[in-house]
Amino acid sequence: MDVTHILDQLNDRQRDAVTAPVGNHLVIAGAGSGKTRVLVHRIAWLIEAEQVSPQGILAVTFTNKAAAEMRSRIESLLGISVRTLWVGTFHGIAHRLLRMHWQEAGLPQNFQILDADDQLRLVKRVMRALDLDEQKWPPRQAVWFINGQKDEGRRAREVPAGDDLFQITHRRIYEAYEETCQEGGLVDFAELLLRSHEIWLTRPDLLDHYQRRFGHLLVDEFQDTNTIQYAWLRVLAGRTGKVMAVGDDDQSIYGWRGARIENIHRFREDFADVGVIRLEQNYRSTGTILRAANALIGNNADRLGKELWTEGADGDPIQVYSGYNDLDEARFVAERTQDWIQAGGSPDEVAVLYRSNAQSRVLEEAMLRAQIPYRIYGGVRFFERVEIKNALAYMRLVHDRHSDPAFERVVNTPTRGIGDKTLEAVREIARARQVSLWQATKLGIEEKLLAPRAAAKLVEFLKLVDELAAACAEQSLHELADTCIQATGLLDFHARERGERGLARKENLEELVSACRQFTGDLVFPLEDGASAEVSVLEEFLDQVALDSGERESQAGPAVQMMTLHSAKGLEFPLVFLSGMEEGLFPHRMSAEEPGRIEEERRLCYVGITRAMKQLYLTYAETRRLHGQDTYNRPSRFLTEVPSALVQEVRMGGAVSRPYGSGRSRAAGGSFAEVDLPGLRMGQRVHHAKFGEGIVLQSEGSGERARVQINFQDVGAKWLMMGYANLEPLD
Ligand code: ATP
Ligand code: MG
Repeated sequence: MDVTHILDQLNDRQRDAVTAPVGNHLVIAGAGSGKTRVLVHRIAWLIEAEQVSPQGILAVTFTNKAAAEMRSRIESLLGISVRTLWVGTFHGIAHRLLRMHWQEAGLPQNFQILDADDQLRLVKRVMRALDLDEQKWPPRQAVWFINGQKDEGRRAREVPAGDDLFQITHRRIYEAYEETCQEGGLVDFAELLLRSHEIWLTRPDLLDHYQRRFGHLLVDEFQDTNTIQYAWLRVLAGRTGKVMAVGDDDQSIYGWRGARIENIHRFREDFADVGVIRLEQNYRSTGTILRAANALIGNNADRLGKELWTEGADGDPIQVYSGYNDLDEARFVAERTQDWIQAGGSPDEVAVLYRSNAQSRVLEEAMLRAQIPYRIYGGVRFFERVEIKNALAYMRLVHDRHSDPAFERVVNTPTRGIGDKTLEAVREIARARQVSLWQATKLGIEEKLLAPRAAAKLVEFLKLVDELAAACAEQSLHELADTCIQATGLLDFHARERGERGLARKENLEELVSACRQFTGDLVFPLEDGASAEVSVLEEFLDQVALDSGERESQAGPAVQMMTLHSAKGLEFPLVFLSGMEEGLFPHRMSAEEPGRIEEERRLCYVGITRAMKQLYLTYAETRRLHGQDTYNRPSRFLTEVPSALVQEVRMGGAVSRPYGSGRSRAAGGSFAEVDLPGLRMGQRVHHAKFGEGIVLQSEGSGERARVQINFQDVGAKWLMMGYANLEPLD
């Protein structure tokens, strides 16, 4: 049999991993060394050389997008379709299992997935019912507690009672929340895993079935598995399943969310005869970028220790830019992106990475102004937008009248005069009678438990939803979506919102209809042997939406990718900007309080740097407006951990920029003196007769030929000749 096409384009070490005898293996290797590639080729190898049926393979990736990509790469290596192969995220796979085995899992058939936003609302409601003060007990903290416990595999009753008020209170919230979820058939993300793990433990017949089926389990990004995921995998593998785990301890960035870097060590102890394979040759980045990454991560202790090397060229130095403020930083990023595109590059070769989502708005505006197409990953996910969630809630109610979250969401949206008091009365009935809000409304109306005016309005609402359902019965998914936004008045309601926002919301709702038109069912887990034939397209769509992690590409055409460092994991781009390299922002100020967190931030920086293939920019701002406040931060310590020989400081048009860190310029070309600006300093507010008020950004040249750049409030940044500008200092 000819398997050369699977082994071409692999180096010797990679080939060892791909062709390793069937058994347990740990591939531990640095960024860009071909771990994901090894996993893909291994699967192709198992199918072609080891004659394993695609049905017998389960592959776990970190995102749905990565899963889809993996499937298509395997198919192109093999030249056949492998629809029966399971590839997905832990959550996606667990969800699939629960849908197929809802009875065994103790769930109603139409259980609903709660996304993060739904979960928070529900926790708030539960806390209100428990009479807990939100000021004293922030609901977000309660959500955090609950998810943390679930990630560790603990049900409320298994949480140690403890004797401090924090533990006692949160345990109570967890208990009440658990009960509410069970009654309503609601399943949050962490629950997907917890419950499917419980199936393994309580249903030996099912476990046995899947153990026989999946003889081969492959996991990418293994360093970021949490306790419950690891336990799930271990039980499923049992004595017979063979696991190939692939990861990089230096890229473990989800410790704050329960990921356990120790799983790498545990794997070697818990599984039999684990073969360890290391890869150190990097195929992604230039020598310069790699050296920077190696030096930076060298500051962390307790590493498995590995150095990346490349046969490739050194490439260009890493460029560092110090913006006067966040606007200036964003403008710079947009300008350099524009240069890249003008030089023949494509926008989708560019990634702008940041530590926190709050940074994206300013960067987004700079892209808009420069007319560069961009796409935001993960920020407010398409399916989390208010108008979309409203539309989905109507679709949900059409499918299942007893969905309380959906009911709560749209009973008074668009506004139809159903107030909080009415709703509270309905909730009270639901609590007392142990029924859904929908049923409670009906009871309230029938038994005249509600004020007549309120009751009349609720009657209208119930009628509206029933009519929708009747109208939708014969419709395809996108017709249904269209009916749900038109007949409910939702489209008009949102379109009437003021200005740009109304327009955007209307467009998004229309986009939802076209998303429904394009929906072809679950690609990651195609339906098989009728196992889930009862699942309607609508239900499948609603599930898919809840599981979507912001990877939806709603905008056509190549676009600059903007995302948090966390979501950049596993990806690569020719040109990368790491923005906001400031103490307090990155490393994040929260990380200073907890031991080990700085190291995790450093790994995050390592992930960011190693996304870059050809050119890397590190940018920061001297002042930044975040959450409505001006902050002055020192440049990030990570900047000083990159050897200065690899770095070049960007000087705009030959202008002077201020060195960061030690006070020396780290520019390869030596140090510069600041230009003397008679009567002016950087950051000063000035007035110009024609352009109005502005702020001094930088200057260049001296004497008569000195030029100064001012960022004017109304007209933006402009260079002016000092000699003629007649600037009037304002403060
Ligand atoms: P990360 O840690 O960021 O997830 P990784 O170890 O999974 O990285 P890959 O994404 O698999 O690395 O590979 C990095 C890049 O190098 C990809 O573009 C891949 O196609 C390329 N590559 C990997 N191995 C080889 C090889 N032997 N020959 C040529 N290119 C390779
Ligand atoms: Mg990878």
